[in-house]
Amino acid sequence: MLEQKYPLSWKKKKFSIKIFCSIPNIATGILLKAGDTSFIIDPGDGILRDLNKEIGVKNLLGISQVFVSHGHHDHVGGVWSLLTYLRVMQKKTPLTIYYPNECVEIESIFHAFEKVYSHSITYKIVLKAIKKTNSFVTKKVTVKPFPVIHKEHLHTGGTRQVPALGYNFSFNGMTICYGGDTAYCEDLVKHAKGVDLAVLEAGHDEETPDEMHMTMKEAVSIGKSAKKYFLVHVPE
Ligand SMILES: [Zn+2]
Repeated sequence: MLEQKYPLSWKKKKFSIKIFCSIPNIATGILLKAGDTSFIIDPGDGILRDLNKEIGVKNLLGISQVFVSHGHHDHVGGVWSLLTYLRVMQKKTPLTIYYPNECVEIESIFHAFEKVYSHSITYKIVLKAIKKTNSFVTKKVTVKPFPVIHKEHLHTGGTRQVPALGYNFSFNGMTICYGGDTAYCEDLVKHAKGVDLAVLEAGHDEETPDEMHMTMKEAVSIGKSAKKYFLVHVPE
C-alpha cells in the first residue's frame, strides 16, 4: 500500500500544482498556478480551508476559473461553500466553472445557489459545460480536456458511466496532465505521454482491472511515460 503524504506539490519556473488532498470517497482539492493565475481543480470538501491557508482571502477572491473532472461528491463537495464564501466576501469578478457536459451535480449546485441567494450574489458565475474536447486558451494557459472512463454503482446493482474528463494544462512550454477519476483508457495514455507531470489516480485496490479506477500497476505504467508522476486517489 502506498502511503501518501498530502499536500503533494510540484513546481517548475512559474508553473505549479498543489494537491491538498485526494482520498477516494472523502475529498479531492487541487490548486494550479501559472504565473499570476490560479485555477481550482476539483473543489472537494475542505477546499475553502486549504485555499484560505495557502493563498489568503484576497487571492481567493481573484480566482476566475474552476475545473471539475466529474460530479462525484469527493470532487465537488466544496463547491457550495466556495460559491457562498465568495458571495459573503463580496467577490466582484466573474467565476467560470468548466465541467463535463451533463454533469448534473454542478448544474444542480449552481441552480440551488442561485435560488437561495438570488438577491445577494455579488459576482457573475459562468457555467461552461464541455461538450467538445478541443483545446482552448484561458489566462495564458492552454487547456485540453479529454474524455475518460469512470462509472458509478446503481442501487439496482448495475453501473452507469458518468460524464468525466481529464485535463492537460500547458503553460510556458510545460504540461501537467490531470486524469481525474478513470479506468485505464487510451485517451489518458495518449495525454499523459511525455508531459512534465502526470497526476494519476490509482483508486482500485485490487489487481484485476475494473471500469471505475486504475490499479496501481496500470497507473504506474502510464506514469512512467511522463517525466514525473504522482499517484493520487489511493484508498487509505
Ligand atoms: Zn469518482
